[in-house]
Amino acid sequence: MRSIVRKSILDVTPYLPGKPIEEVKRELGLKDVVKLASNESPFSPSPKVLETITRAARDLNRYPDGGCYHLRQALSRRLGVEGNQIIFGNGSDEIIVMAVRAFVEKGDEVILARPSFLIYEIASKIAGAQMKAVSLKDFRYDLSGMKKAVTKKTKIIFIGNPDNPASTYITQKEVVDFLREIRRDILFFFDEAYFEFVDKKDYPDTIKLLKTFKNIIVSRTFSKMYGLAGLRIGYGVAQPEVIDLLNRVREPFNVNSLAQAAALACLKDSKYYEDIKIRVIAQKRYFCQEFRNMGLKFVEGVTNFILVDVGRDSRGLSEALLKKGVIIRDMSFWGLKNFIRVTIGKPQENQKFIRALKAVI
Ligand SMILES: *Cc1c(COP(=O)(O)O)cnc(C)c1O
Repeated sequence: MRSIVRKSILDVTPYLPGKPIEEVKRELGLKDVVKLASNESPFSPSPKVLETITRAARDLNRYPDGGCYHLRQALSRRLGVEGNQIIFGNGSDEIIVMAVRAFVEKGDEVILARPSFLIYEIASKIAGAQMKAVSLKDFRYDLSGMKKAVTKKTKIIFIGNPDNPASTYITQKEVVDFLREIRRDILFFFDEAYFEFVDKKDYPDTIKLLKTFKNIIVSRTFSKMYGLAGLRIGYGVAQPEVIDLLNRVREPFNVNSLAQAAALACLKDSKYYEDIKIRVIAQKRYFCQEFRNMGLKFVEGVTNFILVDVGRDSRGLSEALLKKGVIIRDMSFWGLKNFIRVTIGKPQENQKFIRALKAVI
């Protein structure tokens, strides 16, 4: 069947997710396994959110509201944008996929950083686009390098802000200068999956920038801080014209009803999630202190995960950690041969990881 398949997918490497806890338990015969590999929240959704999901489950015989009416109302109020400036996705991954589907044709170019979030590249390759990958400099975006990569064929520039796996961000001033210097008929995709964790005064207000720059999409998610990774819900914000174009390639019932109800309940339960943020930041301090004590270099970043230079083959190290019941992300697949990425978990999980790391190093 390879001879009749779309040529563009032949050099796509399927996304390799972090191993699920159950799989590691089964395969290695372990009882106690912690997962610090996929930047998920270690905390269950709030009691109110869980209650809402239970209630919403009674209507699972019905199709979901394709327009996400209640969630759209709440979010548009929260963000200060019109309802027709928002699109919801089955995870924010789907916003990326829809943007590529709507804007990128075979032979077009997209610009992205390397290493960066793999979905930008996978979605673009499927569409038959050419990748213009610009290496990070000191683990930050090289914006002048990205500017130089622009050609007549450029359609989208992907900016993970903060990005994964580097965890660093670009500032308001950097964003505005960059937007000013580049043609307005290129779409800037700002992926703000970790937006809720960032506490920096110079972090850009991209939603506000939408008023001046019509060529922006901002995506965010309920998967990280809000702990709904398993339900799959994220959103994109843009000018109505851009949202209208994205809606043409959206599946009619792309966001399930439990996800819609749960996301709305999350927005109403800010206190619970503010607390989680405080705990994550405290645990991040613990990690950084331990890494310093061990003499390991790391990129502290502004998210709920840390990129660590383990000073040796990260693949072997990751396998050794797995045998001790700790799942982290080996970064060699991203071209960072001596690096691992570790998500900040609950105190006990983090301590287990540090103990295991000390044992294998
Ligand atoms: C986790 C992550 C996402 C979010 O994915 P969802 O589909 O919303 O779960 C998006 N972008 C980056 C950079 C991420 O790390």
